[in-house]
Amino acid sequence: MNLQDIKNITVVGGGTMGNGIVQVFASYEYKVTLVDLNQEVLDKAVTGISKSLDRFVKKEKITAEQKNTILANISTSTDLHVAKDSQLVIEAVSETLAIKLKIFEQLESICSSETIFASNTSSLPITQLASATKRPGQFIGMHFMNPVPMMKLIELIRGMATSEETFKLITELSEKLGKTPIEVNDFPGFIANRILLPMINEAVFAHFEGVGTVEAIDSVMKLGMGHPMGPLQLADFIGLDVCLAILEVMHEGLGDPKYRPCPLLKKMVQAGYLGRKSGKGFYDYNA
Ligand code: NAD
Repeated sequence: MNLQDIKNITVVGGGTMGNGIVQVFASYEYKVTLVDLNQEVLDKAVTGISKSLDRFVKKEKITAEQKNTILANISTSTDLHVAKDSQLVIEAVSETLAIKLKIFEQLESICSSETIFASNTSSLPITQLASATKRPGQFIGMHFMNPVPMMKLIELIRGMATSEETFKLITELSEKLGKTPIEVNDFPGFIANRILLPMINEAVFAHFEGVGTVEAIDSVMKLGMGHPMGPLQLADFIGLDVCLAILEVMHEGLGDPKYRPCPLLKKMVQAGYLGRKSGKGFYDYNA
């Protein structure tokens, strides 16, 4: 397959990341179908994309007419079978191995043998996800950053069997989207989260142990280290459930106690305090 053969894309999972991925592909004239479990989530996703595009219109980066063209490139479905005509399927569902494996098993029987499969997983082994399919050569990690329309980086993760052809094609595709792909090997957490999540976890521990308030910890990192966002604010933005899942994958996969998730993080997830998306995390977003 060549770059120009890629026309239809299916994105599975219409949460924070799936929405951003759909928006970017649709902005570059790809026909994208978003799949999620129910229509309510899908409608919310399209409304979110529309609002995000409004911000680009307001900044005069795109016209109102272009916005409508982009939205017209997007369709939605609750049926995974819509993926059958796609040349590329990107999975961006919740960070749970069993769910992802099941989706790839289903996709294997739905899609043509040519179709390339990508996962936006933050930390799960690409080699293991690829093993749920009969096409490990056409399987790759495409780890977008949040918010997808703004962030330039895509970590491109080679599974043990990812072919050179797939890697090259997805590199070209990433560049076509105006992104900068960086090659990463398949180890838990890859590069971005292997470095970021221990910092976030340490910030949660610092708060848990009473070293400082949420605001104090975030202010120290912003004013003292020049970070645009404090680590606890960033954790809310990523989603506390996502942060916990990534830490658990690194803890188990690397076997090093330094990745042990802070008990406070676990407790907040159990309470449903997932950060911005649930309205409450280290900060309150309901106000
Ligand atoms: P999210 O919780 O916002 O969204 C997940 C979506 O998946 C939900 O809409 C859910 O309904 C849907 N889903 C669950 N099971 C499904 C199924 N069987 N079929 C179809 N849809 C299903 O999660 P998110 O933050 O968008 O994360 C998605 C993936 O991207 C995860 O693997 C995560 O690790 C990764 N990721 C997240 C971030 C981040 O900052 N949040 C950054 C990079 C990568």
